[in-house]
Amino acid sequence: MQKIRRFLRFDSLSVRIAALYSALFALTFGALVAVAMGGIERYASGQISDEMTANSNAFKKILELESKRMATATDILAADFGFREAVALGDEPTLASALVSLRNRLDVPNAFIMTLDGGTIGLEQKIQDAESDSIWNALDEGARNGLVKIGGEYHGIVAAPIEAPDLFGWLVVGKPLNKAEMQGLSELAPISLTAKVIDEPILPSPLVAKTGEQIELLENGERILYRVSTLPSLGTNQKPTLLLRHSLSEALLAYRPISWILSILALVGLGIIISAGWALAKGITRPIARLEQAARQISAGERTKVRVNSKDEIGRLAESFNDMVDAIVEREGEISHIALHDALTGLPNRKYYRDQLDIALKRAGEDELVAVFYLDLDNFKSVNDTLGHPVGDGLLKQVSSRMEGLLDGHLIARLGGDEFAVLVDGVDSVDAITKIAESLEKSFADRFEFDGHIMPTTTSIGIAVAPHDGTESDILMKNADLALYRAKHEGKGQYHYFEQEMDELARKRRETEIDLKLAIEHGQFELYYQPLFNTEEQKINGFEALIRWNHPTRGLVSPLDFIPLAEETGLIVQIGEWVIKEACHQAATWPEQIRVAINISPVQFRTKGLQSVLIQALTQSGLSPQRLELEITESLLIDNVAETLQALHSLREMGVRVALDDFGTGYSSLSYLRSFPFDKIKIDRSFVDDIMSDKGSAAIIQAITGLAAALGMETIAEGVELEEQVEMLLKNGCNNIQGFLLSRPVPMAEVDALITALSGKCRNRKVA
Ligand code: C2E
Ligand code: MG
Ligand code: MG
Repeated sequence: MQKIRRFLRFDSLSVRIAALYSALFALTFGALVAVAMGGIERYASGQISDEMTANSNAFKKILELESKRMATATDILAADFGFREAVALGDEPTLASALVSLRNRLDVPNAFIMTLDGGTIGLEQKIQDAESDSIWNALDEGARNGLVKIGGEYHGIVAAPIEAPDLFGWLVVGKPLNKAEMQGLSELAPISLTAKVIDEPILPSPLVAKTGEQIELLENGERILYRVSTLPSLGTNQKPTLLLRHSLSEALLAYRPISWILSILALVGLGIIISAGWALAKGITRPIARLEQAARQISAGERTKVRVNSKDEIGRLAESFNDMVDAIVEREGEISHIALHDALTGLPNRKYYRDQLDIALKRAGEDELVAVFYLDLDNFKSVNDTLGHPVGDGLLKQVSSRMEGLLDGHLIARLGGDEFAVLVDGVDSVDAITKIAESLEKSFADRFEFDGHIMPTTTSIGIAVAPHDGTESDILMKNADLALYRAKHEGKGQYHYFEQEMDELARKRRETEIDLKLAIEHGQFELYYQPLFNTEEQKINGFEALIRWNHPTRGLVSPLDFIPLAEETGLIVQIGEWVIKEACHQAATWPEQIRVAINISPVQFRTKGLQSVLIQALTQSGLSPQRLELEITESLLIDNVAETLQALHSLREMGVRVALDDFGTGYSSLSYLRSFPFDKIKIDRSFVDDIMSDKGSAAIIQAITGLAAALGMETIAEGVELEEQVEMLLKNGCNNIQGFLLSRPVPMAEVDALITALSGKCRNRKVA
């Protein structure tokens, strides 16, 4: 149906070509046939016209011959002696018989004598006076033959003088040119025509104008050819005219079969041309239609090619089309490879991994396990920071190829940065998964080497196993990530399986993160202050600012519960800024000799804006830089040592003091003390806790204080809760303390009272 509609709308190229082709040929044919038919007609008309002319001449000739024949016989009789004698004698019987004999001989109805006295002898027909006068006039003028009316009818007349010896009269022979006579003559003509002798005045006007020529007139739809010619007249005032009439239409009928044959030939030719045109159009458009269909299939995502049958333009087009399809397929392959692979290592990317995991999960049998491994290189950042990104990239490439060598048959993907994933499927026990995790960890035991750099690297691995830890790829990947987080936090270079409570913890972390953002907006933070006390001088040197979070439902939240998350999420930068400004602002209200110590997180330390935040806080509060002490931790000195030291020096140049917090934990190294001239070393609470029981701790404290004193640094012991600890610390060279023994951290409002109370307490203690 649609095809028919398209056909009628000329939407199809083949229909258009065939129609155009056929129309052109039909026009040409039509024109040719019309020209041929016109030619035939012209030829036929010419023929007929020529025949008419010939007939007209023949008519005249016949009339002339007849006239001559009559003249000869008439002359003979008029000259005959006996006849003349009979005329002279008025011998009527003889004359009558002579006239009858002449009539019979010439086969004419009229042979008579016109006598000079105006009478006639032997004239059987009645002649009008005017007619007779007219003949006499002609004879007087010397005419001897011609046409003349007798009894209202034209007659061919021949006259011979009868002289006996003087002119007695005229012997006249007349033959009527009536209908019967003319028909007889017409029948002699090879064409069917009617001949008439008429008076010129009674000819229709177009014929008068054309005397001597041929003219075509239309009579009742019939084409009639007329030829008009004048005949010699014997009578005066008479113009006998020969009118030949011939039906051209009738004559042309003879040519009709030729026209029919021509028309039939034209129609047959046209039919052949239409079918040839259709076949030709189809021949041209069929490959185009095939190309169009193939193009549509390709745009619908199918892969198809067109058969090449010819070497012409269309064949070449089909070949180019096929080349284009190949190029598209190749490019699609490249694009999908790029879209699904990591450019650096060539490993599949996260999307590819996820898709494969989906497939593996669908395919997995009832007792089959599917494990998702999430790997994150430990300390990769320091490789990048210290050795540069090209070396970092080199390490990533080596890690990926080492893993590929180890885990042949398992899908390995790079998820981004230093994160990789492994897909382990087709296993039926957790033991098998553990073995793979262990072999992975073991494979990192050998150091990596790139561009002359040796890089000891480990990886943390988080593992989630389907169906136990989830049956959907998103959940498994999220759980493997949570397990990885745990593995990282429990010490690096380890693997950890996912446990349900990790999910709960993660949920809590997410909640806390949202709450933290709100806390910043709503100003839910508050600073508490814990005194830093010099036991020798018995005075408060300063206060350490310790942040508290007044949570609307959880109450006062310890920094230990939210600082790590704030550091992970980067929120620490905003929180830290607030702490600096608030602490400076509040400390500015304290007595001149009392400093304020602020904890600076490593994350915050590494931000570019720290220095300007400090300058701003100091300027706005009016606090002298010497009264501001920044507490940093050892972890800062592990990575980017040179950069850290430079930053510390510029802080020092500002005039602020720098203290090393929690000394003795983590990466404790006395060499750090050499790297930067800290103003203060804060000995970690763990040593103070053990000072009474563990001789080692006391020795360490002594060593630290000794070294610090040698380097011109102060020391302070954290977490002092007991009087005995104070004694021991003093004994081991530490005379600055901080701890619950003196005071817990207090809100700002209690600071003044605390200063007063502590001075008193210390005095008391000293007295005691
Ligand atoms: P820190 O800098 O080592 O602070 C000393 C911590 O020891 C404080 O805990 C303090 O309350 C606690 N402490 C002091 N004396 C004693 C004692 O005699 N016995 C015991 N058991 N504990 C004592 P807090 O306030 O919970 O702070 C914990 C940690 O949170 C701080 O350790 C510090 O690292 C971090 N922190 C606190 N406030 C801030 C802050 O504003 N910014 C940053 N970045 N970190 C902060
Ligand atoms: Mg501190
Ligand atoms: Mg500390």
